[in-house]
Amino acid sequence: MTKKIFRSIIVVAIVVLLISFFIASNFLFDYYNKSHVAQLKEALSLVSAGVNENGTEYLEKLDSSIFRFTLVDADGTVLYDSLVDASEMENHLDREEIAQALESGSGSSVRKSSTLTERTFYEAVRLENGKVLRISMSQMTVGALILDMLPAVIVIAFISIVVALVLSHTMSSGIVKSLDNLDLDHPAENDAYEEITPILTKLDKQRKQINRQMQELKQKSDEFKQITASMNEGLVLLDKNGVIISINKAAKKLFGTDDSAVGRDFLTVDRRTEMSHAVEKALEGKHSEFREERNGSEYRFIINRTESEGKTVGVVILCLDVTESAYAERNRREFTANVSHELKTPLQSIIGSAELLENGLVKPEDTKRFVGNIKSEATRLVSLINDIIRLSQLDENSESASESVDLYDITKEVVEVLSASAAKKRVRISLDGEPCVMNGVRRYLYEIVYNLCDNAIRYNKEGGSVTVGLNKNADNVILKVSDTGIGIPVEHQSRVFERFYRVDKSHSKETGGTGLGLSIVKHAVAYHGGSIKLDSTAGEGTTVTVEF
Ligand code: ADP
Repeated sequence: MTKKIFRSIIVVAIVVLLISFFIASNFLFDYYNKSHVAQLKEALSLVSAGVNENGTEYLEKLDSSIFRFTLVDADGTVLYDSLVDASEMENHLDREEIAQALESGSGSSVRKSSTLTERTFYEAVRLENGKVLRISMSQMTVGALILDMLPAVIVIAFISIVVALVLSHTMSSGIVKSLDNLDLDHPAENDAYEEITPILTKLDKQRKQINRQMQELKQKSDEFKQITASMNEGLVLLDKNGVIISINKAAKKLFGTDDSAVGRDFLTVDRRTEMSHAVEKALEGKHSEFREERNGSEYRFIINRTESEGKTVGVVILCLDVTESAYAERNRREFTANVSHELKTPLQSIIGSAELLENGLVKPEDTKRFVGNIKSEATRLVSLINDIIRLSQLDENSESASESVDLYDITKEVVEVLSASAAKKRVRISLDGEPCVMNGVRRYLYEIVYNLCDNAIRYNKEGGSVTVGLNKNADNVILKVSDTGIGIPVEHQSRVFERFYRVDKSHSKETGGTGLGLSIVKHAVAYHGGSIKLDSTAGEGTTVTVEF
């Protein structure tokens, strides 16, 4: 910019200089001419008066270094010339000024000299004796004058250009400096040239608008960050080149990265083939979805393109932790398979016994045993189906009506119901405790106590004991069922709450049970917001503590 201003000033200075020079020369030349003509006229009037009075001899006495005098007779014959011998001069009657003077008394003319670099001014007057006195003076032409003045003009032009250079440099730097010093962060506060005030005002307006828009954008981006940060799902936004624009907390954790991932290619964060294929497909506008295990959890990845006005502008990757639902799904599948198996075994036994009886292959003395077998398998089937129904009710998590119940009453009832089977197994069962009124679903609470006590009897040793204790403190009701039975080996303790899990599968028929009892207990306790604890030593006994 400095250079441009500098160049413009120089060009303007030179043009102005040349124009002024030519105008001034013309004016001066004109003035010069007029003053010469006036001078000539004055000198002619004086000299003509002298010649009128003193005759032609007067001319000879005059100094002819400045002016040239010529005396011409009325017929054009040159009588005297102060510069040339008059006898050698041609007739002057055709000279314009002479002709005018003879006719009207005075005449004047200007003629170029033969060299073309000079002009001659002529003034003539008719004397009293009828002759014509002419006075003339030569002067340079404009061109010659300029040529004559050329060295001086060059010096002046050089000085002028140098001065213009210095001035234009100072001026252009001054202009640029003041532009450089403009505070564009606060355009309205500048004390600048009047000419740039409209630009500054516009700038100020635009700045305010940009600030407002920036604030709105920041607010939106903050809101977006807050929302995505609190999401459990991972969310990654990529631009159309696959570069990360935004990655939320959950996604950073999942891909093992941090804030430095923003601005990097997503491939540098996750190189797995399926993911890069999905991103590529999304950029082509296709939706992708796949499941993959990451950090011990199962994730569902949904990859889609983001678009604006029909064009792909990026990709959005949504990562959902589906470990729990996948686990539940797996459990459901396993459960169905187990249920089929568990139902099939007693049914096959029933069908087998029935077929033998039908075909008369059973000895009469064994008939009772076979019928008894059918009955016990059928009973087992019924209790299995009952357990499945209970479990599926608990699984559905449907709200059951809560009421105020005394857990002591329920426990007492269970102990009474089970006392016969305890006696049969020669197991002593005792209840110790106090009334514990709590809010709960009677049916589920009964299941909890029943299954725990039933297990404590079934997995007991002959002559063993079961102690049921019921206490309460300020906040909780505590149910404790201890037995002196066979106990559960440590490696099985974490699994006994799983559906159909049995420690000793080979003896399950003898001990009865469906493998669902503790599952029902676990679910029913969870339904009441309680906790369950298992302490067991193989061969010594088991204590299950439930805290509501
Ligand atoms: P089941 O109907 O087979 O008793 P449960 O879910 O109630 O099924 O129990 C699962 C397994 O845990 C049982 O098969 C048994 O091996 C073990 N178990 C449960 N309670 C006791 C206990 N009090 N003493 C020893 N083993 C137990």
